Amino acid sequence: MPSKTLAPTPRPRHRTAPSMVAFRAASARGTVLALATLTVLSFATAAVPAMADGELPPGVPPAVGEAARVAITPGVLEAPVRFLADDLLEGRGPASRGDRLTQLYLASTMQLLGLQPAAADGSWLQPFDVVGIDAKVPATWSFTHGDARLDLAWNDDFIAASGVQRPEARIDGAELVFVGYGIEAPEYGWDDFKGADLAGKVLVMLNNDPDWDPDLFAGERRLYYGRWTYKYESAARQGAAGAILIHTTPSAGYPWQVVQTSWTGEQFELPAGNEPRIEVAAWTTEEATRRLFTLAGQDYDALLAAAKRRDFHPVPLGVTTSLALDNSISRAQTANVLGMLPGRDPQLADQVVVFTAHHDHLGVASEGEGDRIYNGALDNASGVATVLALARAFSELPEPPRRSLLFLFVGAEEQGLLGSKYYAAHPTVEPGRIAANLNFDGANIWGETRDLTLIGMGKSDLDAVARAVAAAQGRELLPDQFQDRGYYYRSDQFSFAKIGVPALYFDGGTDFVGKPAGWGKEQVEAWTEEHYHQPSDELTADWSYAGMVQDARLGFYAGWLVAEQEEMPRWTPGDEFEAAREKALKAISGSKE
Ligand SMILES: [Zn+2]
Repeated sequence: MPSKTLAPTPRPRHRTAPSMVAFRAASARGTVLALATLTVLSFATAAVPAMADGELPPGVPPAVGEAARVAITPGVLEAPVRFLADDLLEGRGPASRGDRLTQLYLASTMQLLGLQPAAADGSWLQPFDVVGIDAKVPATWSFTHGDARLDLAWNDDFIAASGVQRPEARIDGAELVFVGYGIEAPEYGWDDFKGADLAGKVLVMLNNDPDWDPDLFAGERRLYYGRWTYKYESAARQGAAGAILIHTTPSAGYPWQVVQTSWTGEQFELPAGNEPRIEVAAWTTEEATRRLFTLAGQDYDALLAAAKRRDFHPVPLGVTTSLALDNSISRAQTANVLGMLPGRDPQLADQVVVFTAHHDHLGVASEGEGDRIYNGALDNASGVATVLALARAFSELPEPPRRSLLFLFVGAEEQGLLGSKYYAAHPTVEPGRIAANLNFDGANIWGETRDLTLIGMGKSDLDAVARAVAAAQGRELLPDQFQDRGYYYRSDQFSFAKIGVPALYFDGGTDFVGKPAGWGKEQVEAWTEEHYHQPSDELTADWSYAGMVQDARLGFYAGWLVAEQEEMPRWTPGDEFEAAREKALKAISGSKE
């Protein structure tokens, strides 16, 4: 499948890269295809020098520390990457042969580890369809106001995507209405629509959410209300025919050029259900929007100021427009792969902690010279390897934790978190019984760190678990360094948060052991620039496994603690996902005594 992601801006990865030659030598031996057998495991650990691993977190017994030490090693982390990032796997593009090989590898590896198949039909696979929409967009988009007309140019002034999975998406003589932020949030007493009838209209909206007051939409921190996905969903709920988001670099968090590249070419989605949909989802540049408002006889800046007030009402612009997109639609199938380790406590074993990593990557480029295989070694064979190592460590324990553990390798993440979205819509465990989600997307291949970034810090009491395990490793926990960019909503944990499940997502550290300040950031930026979503994201001899081991052990301890604690984790009171959790808990209450 073509390389493209619906989560624009390359994620900065705050991590970095001394070479750990000793580890490489030790793990080179572990070329076993499926995760090593016990014999190979003990070989690997014998050859590996002890890690500076700190103390065990409070409440974690020595047997758990021993499992981490034995099962989470450089060799165990390298082996799956060696296999999955090989050219033979052809970049693991959804629905490719490499994709099917990946699924088979994950299923057989989990079987080898003694896990149980966990799909609804008792197999390892949860298949799902991916719909590709390639929309042909006209070169100009015309808007009329009385006798006056404005033509916007595709790509320079606007981009447009189909909101429907039909051969044609169309807007016919629809009226434009400016709806401010397009947000309806009862918990903040905010409603931009005020009951206006917006059926069949094209809604013009500001991106982001109100950010000037810390008590309103968490101030500068971007909430889901500030993501473009929310905006289009919100317009659909109003029965609108289309939506236009006004792009500015600060409100999007990335330049116009990212909008251009992310929204050009084939777009991928799950098959449409009966949810409301707009026909056309568009973006305009701020400059083009000013011209549009001038055409309407409106003052752009004045309307922007009005939109910042709670008493804002939708403003009909007196402008009408039509647009038709010709779509070619394709359909293909991929799968999530999932295995379960049942918990030991009869009271809690029907609750699960879910570990996720996406197994897909971008496949093979259809054109271009030289290497065209997107091996996705770091993105995300490394995350898959981490979750497999966790599964291995959990199955090494003398007894499993109280709650059950679900190891879920999701597909089609690069196409817009599709595998985790599908799982959230078709969960194998009721959402009210999912205690937490720990997601792994891209490991640290540069060495041990003294710190660690927790994306979404402050959102749930999982913070306390994260802080305890980080402290035991002598590491400082940092909040998201880019609060306004909404990273929490851009990887698979978000699909779980949306159905109410508290979720943890660690990004790497920045402060590398034995390296000067700033070194880590430099390595990460250089890697992102050169290798992010490129065929050169490959397993190379300079990978260090020290940081990966450190982070995987941290994830293991955190997962163990969550699986053992008396109560399931909770969202911070007032959090945007609290209502979804209450609903999920209500759905299971009474169904079991
Ligand atoms: Zn990616």
